[in-house]
Amino acid sequence: SLTLNLILGDQLNWDSLIWKDADKQHDLFWMAEVKHESSQTPSSKQRTTLFLSAMRHFAEDIKSKGYRLSYTTLADEQASFESALEATLKNNNVSRVRCVLAGDMTVVSRLESFFSQYNLSIEWLADQHFITRQGEFQQWLDERKQPRMEHWYRHLRKDRQILMDDNQAPIGGQWNFDKDNRRSFDKKGPQLPSSNSRFKHDAITKHVIQDVETFCAELPGSLADFNWPVTRKQALQQLDAFIKYRLPSFGDYQDAMWTEQPFLFHACLSSSLNLKLLNPLEVINKAEQAYYENNAPLNAVEGFIRQVLGWREYIRGLYWSYREHWLDYNALDHQRALPSFYWHADTDMKCMHHSISQVLEHGYGHHIQRLMVTGLFSLLWGIKPDAIHRWYLGMYVDAVAWVEIPNTLGMSQYADGGIVGSKPYIASGAYIDRMSNYCQHCAYKPKQASGQDACPFTTLYWHFIDQNQVWLAKNPRLGMQVRNWFNKAETEQQHIRERATWLFSHLDKDNRKEQA
Ligand code: SF4
Repeated sequence: SLTLNLILGDQLNWDSLIWKDADKQHDLFWMAEVKHESSQTPSSKQRTTLFLSAMRHFAEDIKSKGYRLSYTTLADEQASFESALEATLKNNNVSRVRCVLAGDMTVVSRLESFFSQYNLSIEWLADQHFITRQGEFQQWLDERKQPRMEHWYRHLRKDRQILMDDNQAPIGGQWNFDKDNRRSFDKKGPQLPSSNSRFKHDAITKHVIQDVETFCAELPGSLADFNWPVTRKQALQQLDAFIKYRLPSFGDYQDAMWTEQPFLFHACLSSSLNLKLLNPLEVINKAEQAYYENNAPLNAVEGFIRQVLGWREYIRGLYWSYREHWLDYNALDHQRALPSFYWHADTDMKCMHHSISQVLEHGYGHHIQRLMVTGLFSLLWGIKPDAIHRWYLGMYVDAVAWVEIPNTLGMSQYADGGIVGSKPYIASGAYIDRMSNYCQHCAYKPKQASGQDACPFTTLYWHFIDQNQVWLAKNPRLGMQVRNWFNKAETEQQHIRERATWLFSHLDKDNRKEQA
């Protein structure tokens, strides 16, 4: 009899517990490409290609090491995980099933209920990829009234001795250099290093691209330029290039945006981390070392480490702590449908056009584009949390449930009513104007709140405040914004309300001329 070891698409690490004591005779490893999984929430062509190519490369490794592997490809046309597993169980005498804990509660429940029909229970192994030990986050959370990322981040910095000096104080005398990390580019735009890694497509990636175009032609996005690391070797190359060329300026410009420059100084490592081709500690150690060797300034290194050590581990902890509730959250009772331009980028709002176009082309946007452009628009427009969540989960190469759900439903949409962040992230077009060159090419005027040239972000920002004034006024960090609304003349408030009403019935059709 055999032990069936499931390896999910985002579990491509050799240091996982599934490989401990692996037995070439009695262990059957199992991987499956299932179209249904990618199309239930349409997974973009970029994301699908990344997952499948990385899985097929990992499968080659497994076979070359002499392990037994059952691998279902798209061409086998299995409708679901369950049907692919049924075929395996039929052909093999399986007495035991193991899997590293999936990063998606839905997958956990589905697999459990599937195997229970066969009187098999699945053994979940701890996921050792993460820095946080099993139970550590929950214990930390239990000792607090409310979770806050900053406290968690400091706890991990101290406990793991990252960027700490001999006196147990943070290096540089402060925990956080965020204030230094909000620069925008001057008129000349970003001066980027010329050496962004290019990953040549090998036979496996070429085959995947062909399969995706054949079996998943209807998926959103394009594969004209696919350039994500699909092996650990490529991921390490990406890491080295980031540390050497982009990390030194990453801090200063981490919030800035620029037309036709989707990657700027960003690491582009999140997809490799989330597929587990890279380990978060090795990434952090490299960044820390760059600081000690004077190759990158502290504001850049601390800002980067905060993302990987602080945010990433915090978000994962919150996903599990509130796992039963996330998909039901809708604190602001938002019910609007996702506007069609999220699927084709055809809108005259230049910030949205550029931020969505690069998602279609590369499956990527950096954190400010996600939070303060596509996410902000969704929040101000009042898109149903489930609809915007599905878009983020399907479109971005690095999206996996545990990371995407709390980021979208919590941080970006405030659907959780304040678990992830203490306030909704709201801003007007003036913020986007300050941090990018998008507005310079836009038909709208970022500072204008009413009238036909008004920036939709600015109109909808005031509309949001108007609609939510009672509870916003109670938040110490937002009271000022509510007072600014009350300081407006009543006629101005009325014009903004009228413009908002017009936007809700016209903007989705991209036909702003109708008002003229
Ligand atoms: Fe976006 Fe408004 Fe700026 Fe246009 S003016 S790019 S809609 S923020």
